Amino acid sequence: MTHVAGVDVGSTATKAVLLDGNGKIVGTGICPTGANVVRAAERVFSEACKTAGVEEYDVAYVIGTGYGRYKVPFGHAQVTEISCHAKGANALFPATRTIVDIGGQDTKAIKVSPNGDVLDFCMNDKCAAGTGRFLEAAATVLDLGLDAIGDVSLRSTAPLKITNVCTVFVESEIVSHLAKGEKVEDILGGVHNAIAGRSVALLRRVGIEDEVTFTGGVSRNAGMVHALAARLNTRINVNPMSQFVGALGAAMFSLERVRHGTAPPIAEPKENAANAHGGH
Ligand code: ADP
Repeated sequence: MTHVAGVDVGSTATKAVLLDGNGKIVGTGICPTGANVVRAAERVFSEACKTAGVEEYDVAYVIGTGYGRYKVPFGHAQVTEISCHAKGANALFPATRTIVDIGGQDTKAIKVSPNGDVLDFCMNDKCAAGTGRFLEAAATVLDLGLDAIGDVSLRSTAPLKITNVCTVFVESEIVSHLAKGEKVEDILGGVHNAIAGRSVALLRRVGIEDEVTFTGGVSRNAGMVHALAARLNTRINVNPMSQFVGALGAAMFSLERVRHGTAPPIAEPKENAANAHGGH
């Protein structure tokens, strides 16, 4: 049976998804991107093939996406992560109209059509304010694991107001709250609310329409899912595969290309200049 793959080389994590000829997910791989981007791409692809029991040379088509998409040596084509997130989110949640993707170092808001085409998007990629790295900085100062901070934040009954979304300054703000004897859960409640507020401001630039799907590694944080849903006053779609949505979308584009032979190139979306937004 024909297999196809998508490899998403993000600034922080590299992910791969392997599909069989029916579009079923049969393998995944994930690792930190690190300094050797090519090595990370090879590693996750090999892991995905191994989990599926498929030989690498039997994979008919591979699309690379993410910031390192041109560093996938075995890739047949490249597609932006914006198009891939739209495609992947539409596959997991077909009623998706708005996507919030919070990754290691950037946040994206994407508006999609009923068939998963990108209508508009904007991103915050000039600094890590309000992204996964910001949460990692908070976790480090509080001496907690990245996978613990979300659950701790959910225990907060009186979240503090965190004024800094800058990764550098939030550390000293947290330290000063700790010195005043504030509870860790209330500090973290404030940290998650600050990121939710910033993400919702980005989403408003493209327009928020139901259903909202949360993608990227930060969607694994239950506290972040809760804070975003509360701020938006709506239910949010998340899935155990949410960190793999970009790779899934890339794999689905691969499948389309194999099925349709020489498929037309995928139109690459352009960020609306009026929406362009970076840093603080
Ligand atoms: P990118 O594609 O930008 O490299 P990802 O979308 O893969 O990044 O997200 C990576 C981020 O996801 C990490 O920086 C981290 O903050 C977050 N993350 C990863 N695993 C977890 C987890 N178990 N709980 C909470 N957050 C996580």
